[in-house]
Amino acid sequence: MDHLIDDSDRLKPCPFCGAEAEIITLEGETDEPSIGAQCVQCTSSACGAASGLIYPLMDDVTDLLRERWNKRHNAELRGERLRESLSNDSLCRDNYGDIT
Ligand SMILES: [Zn+2]
Repeated sequence: MDHLIDDSDRLKPCPFCGAEAEIITLEGETDEPSIGAQCVQCTSSACGAASGLIYPLMDDVTDLLRERWNKRHNAELRGERLRESLSNDSLCRDNYGDIT
């Protein structure tokens, strides 16, 4: 079970292009509702896949973001369903095919 613990402690690579992923905090004008929201985003500018936004209130959401990203990573490799919910799906489809 040790490998499962290790996997849960870091972000898995992008399920579409295989690039590294990182947790980012959105910045911008102060009247934008997304300010301060965090998400996991692919580091490849050509891909740009990202997880859903989470708004940190009092707790650190890093663990939650990582957990969601890693779960989706597994789901993407197993099936098709979640791909349809991504706005940049068409952009990544070719790369996705290369890593399966
Ligand atoms: Zn990517």
